[in-house]
Amino acid sequence: MTDTLPPALPAAIDESRQWARLMGMAMLGAIPHDGVNREALTPLDRQARRLLVTWAIEAGLTVSIDEMNNLFLRHEGTDPTAAPVLSGSHMDSQPSGGRFDGIWGVVAALEAVQAIREAGLATRRPIEVVSWTNEEGGRFAPGCMGSMAWSGHRPATTWDQVADGAGITFRAALDEQMAAEADLPRRPLGPQPGAAPFAYVEAHIEQGPRLEADLLDIGVVTGIQGSRWFLVDITGQSAHAGTTPVGLRRDAVQDMVRAIEALNRLTEDPEDVLRFTVGRVEVHPNSSNSVADRVRFSIDLRHPDAAVLTAKGDAIAATVQSAVKFCTAQVTERFTAMPATFQPDVPAAVEAAAAALGLRSLRLASGAFHDAQFLVPVCPTGMIFVPSRGGISHNPAEYSSPEQLAAGTRVLAATLYDLANR
Ligand SMILES: [Zn+2]
Repeated sequence: MTDTLPPALPAAIDESRQWARLMGMAMLGAIPHDGVNREALTPLDRQARRLLVTWAIEAGLTVSIDEMNNLFLRHEGTDPTAAPVLSGSHMDSQPSGGRFDGIWGVVAALEAVQAIREAGLATRRPIEVVSWTNEEGGRFAPGCMGSMAWSGHRPATTWDQVADGAGITFRAALDEQMAAEADLPRRPLGPQPGAAPFAYVEAHIEQGPRLEADLLDIGVVTGIQGSRWFLVDITGQSAHAGTTPVGLRRDAVQDMVRAIEALNRLTEDPEDVLRFTVGRVEVHPNSSNSVADRVRFSIDLRHPDAAVLTAKGDAIAATVQSAVKFCTAQVTERFTAMPATFQPDVPAAVEAAAAALGLRSLRLASGAFHDAQFLVPVCPTGMIFVPSRGGISHNPAEYSSPEQLAAGTRVLAATLYDLANR
């Protein structure tokens, strides 16, 4: 790597152009305190994609989309029949998100490819920049639909009936977006027979405190912990808060509290590796002087060890059932991503690129899930992290500096150049 990295390549990474592009994207869906609300398949999402397409065409790349609305920007290789190297992330945000989660990985991949071209360098393999559809899962749950369908993890029609808060189905929103992009060339969904990508590299902000705390520049990601998402529905009976004796109630909120307490005991981990979160609660009728007849709450369970994730996740339904006293309960699993360990190829290339650039790097696993997880069965995969200030993400306060992001993009460019010439 050290011998093969042409000095012209890192020099061609344009820190201010990348920052200006990120700030331009952040204006599409800007919310107070530097936040961004640009959820998947919304008019703002379309505007952001158009802006990216404009930059890609100016840079000389060719644009195409597949039936899941995944967007590809292709740099041709000297051997156009060689398997391409794929790099990107997502452009959608959380409803109260920041300016860097996802979008930096897409803008960085474009910057890296543009730098390769502007430095007058060629690659044997094509490089394709990708933006995966609906990674966040805020509007349509779960996340990572684009990469799950592309990789064959789930059929593309799996989420047709999933509706957002306004009752619009994923299928309707996807059809609308595809129609609005009727002018963009189509490509088949997924790796075509005998033509899987040579490798996939995703650049992303860390979303955790580790790199900043250790004064490091680059995270060499070795894998991603697994996640299981559940919905719990508790059904009791609505009653008057003033007239109904407590002993006669079937109070769904009280049984929810019992269930969560039992789940807290189930998921206690002295090492604090297992992550159990109840982040969303819906109460019906949600009135201060009525006993609740229905409660729905979400469970997000994560662990890097498949055996632990399986054992604890499989125990959730029984734990809830034995905890509720007066109501009935139903537990539904709606998303499963088993822990992924990256094959050594891409992490080694990322580590070598960081070393060649004189940057301080650390090998670490990702606590958040990413599209990269679903690429692991398809091709050698890896990720590059840059520090996140205070480890804060999914929040308007999310921040990485122009210098930190440019350093990450130099590592990405060197990694892509290395892989695309193998
Ligand atoms: Zn992300």
